[in-house]
Amino acid sequence: MTNSLLLRNALLLDVTSGEYLEGDLRCADGQIVETGPSLSAPDASVLDLDGAVVMPGLIDGHVHVTALTADLGALPTLSPSYVTAHSARIMGHMLHRGFTTVRDASGADYGLADAQAEGLIQGPRLLFCGRALSQTGGHGDLRGRGMQRHDEHPCCAGLGRIADGVDAVRAATRDELRKGAHHIKVMASGGVASPTDRIDSTQYSDEELRAVVEEARAANRYVAAHAYTARAVNRALRAGVRSIEHGNLLDDHSVELFVEQGAYLVPTLVTYWALKQEGMAHGLPEANWRKVDEVLDAGLTSLERAARGGVKLVYGTDLLGGMHKHQNQEFRLRAQVQDPIDVIRAATSNAAELVGMAGQIGTLEPGAQADLLVLDGDPLTDIGILADPKHISHIVQSGDIVM
Ligand code: ZN
Ligand code: ZN
Repeated sequence: MTNSLLLRNALLLDVTSGEYLEGDLRCADGQIVETGPSLSAPDASVLDLDGAVVMPGLIDGHVHVTALTADLGALPTLSPSYVTAHSARIMGHMLHRGFTTVRDASGADYGLADAQAEGLIQGPRLLFCGRALSQTGGHGDLRGRGMQRHDEHPCCAGLGRIADGVDAVRAATRDELRKGAHHIKVMASGGVASPTDRIDSTQYSDEELRAVVEEARAANRYVAAHAYTARAVNRALRAGVRSIEHGNLLDDHSVELFVEQGAYLVPTLVTYWALKQEGMAHGLPEANWRKVDEVLDAGLTSLERAARGGVKLVYGTDLLGGMHKHQNQEFRLRAQVQDPIDVIRAATSNAAELVGMAGQIGTLEPGAQADLLVLDGDPLTDIGILADPKHISHIVQSGDIVM
């Protein structure tokens, strides 16, 4: 059966040129077939849009769909079936905020991705990495100081796995790839939500980082690294990492390295904004909440510096627990230092390029997945149209009208 859909009288946003094309858009079998004036499709469902803006479905390059609480240390103590029920809810809400594809930055697995692909749960297309690799005492080691044991049982929900030494990180990378990881995530510096590390620490040796990159590349996959300070960012980039997550404290040399290596920066400003305002109410322990200040204001300065230097930027949010509702607020935060079209590219074409799906998602070109949003205003002149999901009047995913 062909699910044929015709959108009439639209303003179609070409995110590459940043211009609108007046006309129609036709989809069939989940893909965009053609765009242009006065298209016809006798057996298609027709939506007359009366001049409304149509843009590609949004891509969030940094989410955690299993993070039902900001108290990440509690996750492994919860029943995996309970966590899955929450993930289905979290993913459904993401889709209804206009995100038709997300890249999970640790926690999600092949089970959730398959369930979404088979239509068992409603949500964005899910590009997962499995568990993030962390050194002992690193950002993925959620043990408090008084705890020795670490339960590696695959049924326990959690965001990280501990591996130390070149051989161990190779084996861990191969194991995540075996389970279908779309990319490999590595913790290359300290973080906010981890109990025993400092934000300014670097994590993993150069040899370990290079081994992870080598294994990922061997499988035609890539590595994303969590890193804050310039010291951590720059060594991860030198090791061949493709995307830096957060990067709040990067420097001018980082910008040069990004451009030289063709790497991507995925800032996640909204999570610090949300953690500062509401983190404790959503389960973030007070000691972790105090770490937020070290990265909050620096994040916007780093984004501006990277944008000015020509670094390829991707939209990311990194929200946890009850703070997921702020997912679209990242548009408004970035628009303080970037033009709306550049923020839109971060959430469409740039993100598609990072995940190796250029031409398939993040574009209205024929042949792409029919992932589309219909908006009730012009996001090029008012970023508020994307910063608040109430301005999305229709969502189409793989040719099906979701909303
Ligand atoms: Zn991180
Ligand atoms: Zn994250």
